[in-house]
Amino acid sequence: MYRTHNCGALRMEHVGQEVSLSGWVQVGRDFGGLTFVDLRDRYGITQLVFDQDDDAALAERARKLGREFVIKVAGTVRERTNKNPNRATGDIEIEVKELTILNASKVPPFTIEEETDGGDDLRMQYRYLDLRRPPLQRNIIFRSKLAIETRKYLAEQNFVEVETPFLIKSTPEGARDFVVPSRMNEGQFYALPQSPQTFKQILMVAGYDRYFQIVKCFRDEDLRADRQPEFTQIDCEMAFVTQEEVLATFEGLTKHLFKTTLGIDLPDFPHMQYDDAMRLYGSDKPDLRFDMPIYELNDLAQNKGFKVFDSVELVAGICAEGQANLTRKQVDQLTDWVKRPQIGAKGLVYVKYNEDGSFKSSVDKFFDTEALQSWADHMGAKPGDLLLILAGGDEKTRKQLGELRLEMGRRMDLMKPGDFKPLWVVDFPLLEWDEESERFHAMHHPFTSPKASEVDRMLNGDHETMKSLKADAYDLVINGAEIGGGSIRIHDRALQEKNFKLLGFTEEEAEAQFGFLMGAFEYGAPPHGGIAFGFDRLCAVLNGQSSIRDFIAFPKNNQGRDMMIDAPAPVAKEQLEELNLEVTWEEEKEA
Ligand code: ASP
Repeated sequence: MYRTHNCGALRMEHVGQEVSLSGWVQVGRDFGGLTFVDLRDRYGITQLVFDQDDDAALAERARKLGREFVIKVAGTVRERTNKNPNRATGDIEIEVKELTILNASKVPPFTIEEETDGGDDLRMQYRYLDLRRPPLQRNIIFRSKLAIETRKYLAEQNFVEVETPFLIKSTPEGARDFVVPSRMNEGQFYALPQSPQTFKQILMVAGYDRYFQIVKCFRDEDLRADRQPEFTQIDCEMAFVTQEEVLATFEGLTKHLFKTTLGIDLPDFPHMQYDDAMRLYGSDKPDLRFDMPIYELNDLAQNKGFKVFDSVELVAGICAEGQANLTRKQVDQLTDWVKRPQIGAKGLVYVKYNEDGSFKSSVDKFFDTEALQSWADHMGAKPGDLLLILAGGDEKTRKQLGELRLEMGRRMDLMKPGDFKPLWVVDFPLLEWDEESERFHAMHHPFTSPKASEVDRMLNGDHETMKSLKADAYDLVINGAEIGGGSIRIHDRALQEKNFKLLGFTEEEAEAQFGFLMGAFEYGAPPHGGIAFGFDRLCAVLNGQSSIRDFIAFPKNNQGRDMMIDAPAPVAKEQLEELNLEVTWEEEKEA
C-alpha cells in the first residue's frame, strides 16, 4: 500500500497513529541530528522528521533526497513542538521509520512553489512541473468543479448532453477555420468547428428540446493573453423559448456557479440595451464595478469659437471623481495615453474643478468660468473632480472615452477584487456595415433572428433600414469581460435565405454551405435560441484573473505552439503522400 492518508489529511486527532504517505519532496532541511522533509501532493504538505539518533542510516538516506523525488514513507504521527499555523497539517509531523524512493528526479528547471522563478516558455515546456505548483492545481481543480456544477445545474433543468462532431464543414463564427485534409476524399478538407452552432440547431429540429455540451471550439485567430486557438464553451440551445426564458435559465446557471464555487449570492442581473452600453460606456461589454459614464457636451461646447470642437460630430467626456489634484505631469501622461495608436485620440481636454470652486482647464482661452461650470453641472461634477473630454467622430470618440474610463478606473483602483458586476447586454444590431468591404457582416452570426417586430422591415426595407435592424441577441458581461453570447435563431427558410443574401452570399453559396440547415427548417423546425459561455474566461473572471491560459491544463503560447509536445510540426513525407498533399513552403523559402 502506497499510502494510508494523503499529504493534506493528518491532524492532531491522528497523533500516535502509524501511517504511510507518498508524494514529492518539496524541500529538505538539516538541523544537526534532525532532517526535515516537506512531502507534497495535491492535497497539501506534511512534514517528515528523520532522527539521526534513532536510525543513522535512514537519516543519511533522507539527507540525500533531492527536490521532486517521489518517495513513500511509513512512520508515526506526532505533535510538533514548533507548530506552523499557516499549514493545515501544521500541528503534526511524521516520525519516519521506513523510506522508499519510488523515483528519483532531476533538479527541476524552476521552483515548484506558489511563486516560481521560471519564465513563460520554460514553464510551458515543462508543463507537468508547472501543473504541480499549487496555484495551477487550484485553477485546474476549480475548473473541474465549475464543469461538474454546470452539468449538475443543466441536468436538473432537463438539458441533454450531446456530443457533436469535430470533423465538419466551415462554421461562420467569423474567424478563420483550422482545416484537416481527408485521406479518403482526395483534395477535400474538413474544418474544425468554430462552435457547434448548426448542429445544436439541428438538434432542436430533431426534438431534443434542451441541449448542452462542454465543448472544444477551434478558431484560427491572432492570439492574445485571453485567447487560445482551441478553447472551451458551455454550449446550449433550447426550443420553444423567448429571449427572456434563455436569459433567465443562464442567469440561473451563472448564479448557481458563483454560489457553489465562491459562495457568492449574485443579485438579479440588470439588462442594458446595446445602444445604451455604447452611448454611456463606449463598449458593448461595460465594466460596471464603477460608473463614470460618458456625457455628451455638444450643446454646451460647440459653436463657442473653439474650432477643434466645432468641426466634429461629438464632444463628450467623463468625470473622474476627486482627481482635480492630478499634477501637470499626470495630465500630460493621460494625454499621451489617449494619443497612443491603440486608442488613437488626437488630444485630451481637461477641466479641473478645484476644491475651492474655481476652474483650471486646457481650454481657458475659449471658455469662461460660466461655460466650464455648465459642463461640470451637466456631468454631475463636484469641486475636486476632473473632467476629461475628447472630440471626434461619434462612435470612435465613445470607444476612446470607454477606454479612458477603464484606464481611470484602473488608476483610481475602482475595480476591486471579489466585486462582481454581471449584466445582460441586449438588443444588439442584426447587421454591421463594413465601410471597407462595403458589405454587411452578421453582428452575432448568420443564424441570429431579427426581433419579431423587425421581420417586416427586414423583408421589405431598403439598405438604410437594414443598418438599423435589431436582433434578439444578447451577451452576458461580467466585470467588463464578455462571458457569453447567444441569440434567438431564425427557424424559417425564407428569412434565413434573406439573411444570407444580405450578408452577400449567392443563392448557390448559401445552399452549398448551409443547405442542410435550411433543408431541416422545412421539416418542422421549432422556434429556438441559445447561448454559449466561454468556459475558460468564466474560470478566469471568477478568480479575478485576466489570462485564460492558467486555467487550461495544456495551453498554446502566443504563436499557437504547444511548447511541451512541440506542435505544430512537419509530418512525414509518407503521410503527405497518403493525403496527396505537397508542401511547397520549404522550397519557396530556399528559393
Ligand atoms: N455559437 C455562438 C458562439 O460561439 C453562440 C450561440 O449563438 O449560441 O458565439
